[in-house]
Amino acid sequence: MIPVTKTCLPELDEYVSQLSEIWKTGWLTNNGTYSKKLTSDLISYLNVPNLELIGNGTLAIQLAIQALDLTGEIITTPYSYVATTTAILWENCDPVFVDINRESLCIDPELIEAAITEKTSAILATHVYGLPCDVVKIEQIARKYQLKVIYDAAHCFGVNYRGQSILKYGDCSTISFHATKLFHTVEGGAVVCADDRIAQRIFLSKKFGHHGEDDYFQIGINAKLSEFHAAMGVCMLPLIDSLIQRRKQISQSYNHLLEGCEIRRPVIPADLEYNYSYYPLIFNSHTAMSNVRQALLDQRVMTRRYFYPSLNTLNYLRPELKRPCPISEEIADRVLCIPLYPELQQTDLDIISHTILREFK
Ligand SMILES: *Cc1c(COP(=O)(O)O)cnc(C)c1O
Repeated sequence: MIPVTKTCLPELDEYVSQLSEIWKTGWLTNNGTYSKKLTSDLISYLNVPNLELIGNGTLAIQLAIQALDLTGEIITTPYSYVATTTAILWENCDPVFVDINRESLCIDPELIEAAITEKTSAILATHVYGLPCDVVKIEQIARKYQLKVIYDAAHCFGVNYRGQSILKYGDCSTISFHATKLFHTVEGGAVVCADDRIAQRIFLSKKFGHHGEDDYFQIGINAKLSEFHAAMGVCMLPLIDSLIQRRKQISQSYNHLLEGCEIRRPVIPADLEYNYSYYPLIFNSHTAMSNVRQALLDQRVMTRRYFYPSLNTLNYLRPELKRPCPISEEIADRVLCIPLYPELQQTDLDIISHTILREFK
């Protein structure tokens, strides 16, 4: 079987030698050596002003919503993983879905202004597949209406846009270090903030608002990353450049093998240093997508309908939140992500691409 993704792990000996340090000190969580090291390693690798490690990427969004004091309505994309929407709902805000741009697959800034009301407090947009939102237009709109901006940058590890880390745009950017993501700590995530005071609030809120001996500064929750998780990140970080390089090779092979097929792929902008986190294919119809999916399954190749369903259609939304988003719904209905992970072999790529091509004959 060829899975759609496969988590990369460091050499077991390498991880075990980090664990033996944890055994020596007995320090398992609460901002220990590994959390501190991973934080500073990530700040320098990603070239960001600050970074707060969080237990996972969903809590990272929730803490950002809290730290920015968001209330009421949050304008958001329907084309993302479900966590983008549920984080908003969990924080007792209403997601207001604005359709995506057909080319970028990110929220369409031309449609944002019409969705703003007195209750709007922020825009929460996803750089889907690690491809950038229109950060310039979104910032202009946010300034004009005094809205906060959070980017769900869960797919963006190592992505640079217009000469800087994509995590530097917006008031906060959140990222996931889940095992299925490019860089992982088994479970984990982080928030990067433009303003150090917001970063400080997140620093406190992830540990009960408790700092020092007996000081409780604000309402908080437990969203810390343990030393075991941080140690995994410390082992993974030195490997990441070669993993991205390998993903790039595989993506380019697919581009070449699938050339001339009637399948659309998102365009990678010229001013983007990309991380090749996914390989999505957008078919001309739902039927074409299903046929390819079944043909691949017959060859024991797994695929994923990333991202389906369009989030404005989630069945548990209140009816008035289910605004139509025809482009997102259409793309969610026709998209398929095919396997992409460093261990994929050329023979695997050949099987996958031949199977797809055969469906178009
Ligand atoms: C994975 C993902 C998340 C959630 O991250 P977790 O670390 O799994 O909680 C949020 N948003 C998007 C777009 C994701 O792909």
